[in-house]
Amino acid sequence: MIHATRQQRMPPGLHAIRGVMGMCHLLVDDAGVVLVDTGLIGEPLEIRGKLRRLGYGPDAVKAILLTHGHLDHVGNLAWAKAWTGAPLYAHQLEQAHIDGTYPYAGITLWCDRLERTGRLLLRVGQPTSIDVPINDGDELPFWGGLRVVHLPGHTLGHCGFYSARHDLLFSGDLFASYFFNVHLPPAILNDAPHLIADSLKRVRAINPSLIVPQHYDWLDGTLHRRRFDRLLQRVLPRL
Ligand SMILES: [Zn+2]
Ligand SMILES: [Zn+2]
Repeated sequence: MIHATRQQRMPPGLHAIRGVMGMCHLLVDDAGVVLVDTGLIGEPLEIRGKLRRLGYGPDAVKAILLTHGHLDHVGNLAWAKAWTGAPLYAHQLEQAHIDGTYPYAGITLWCDRLERTGRLLLRVGQPTSIDVPINDGDELPFWGGLRVVHLPGHTLGHCGFYSARHDLLFSGDLFASYFFNVHLPPAILNDAPHLIADSLKRVRAINPSLIVPQHYDWLDGTLHRRRFDRLLQRVLPRL
């Protein structure tokens, strides 16, 4: 028997765009294309190429969904909005992150320094307005329906997107999932660490079969779900 590859086990129309810092995703169905996050280094070329190979132009992109406003997710946001003309959906609390004006404090000032350096060196992360503010429980009419799941902690407006059709959660930066290294984001990147435990429990309660974070090695939602369960056992008692 020939085993299905990891990509084949995933829902059709889910395309990973691998950048230098992490992943973003194109969700494609008959109604059009949705971009989840926009990446930092290398993604515009990848996104353009992937859409072209799928037979789409930029105007096929109906929406840009944002998990949160860290620079590795919004670096190409201004480009993506201008290139596609698509509206930006994000939690209103992420606007300051998007614009590079978030009032970092304490240990997260290191994140501020990293992002400022990135903006300066890479000339990315221009201020960009949220067009459609999203909130927990909103049902978005994309990819067969995506429910907004507010998962604060990493940032205050950090959101996941849950597809009931595919029983799949895009979990943003709730955790990162690499071989031998499944972890919560490091402390310098978490604006409100006291909220992380509840967000982890929230995902456990939703209990999706498939989880797709934004930093991972393989596009395999079953694998990331298994790793998430192991992570919970390890970190929840300490949070
Ligand atoms: Zn982040
Ligand atoms: Zn990230």
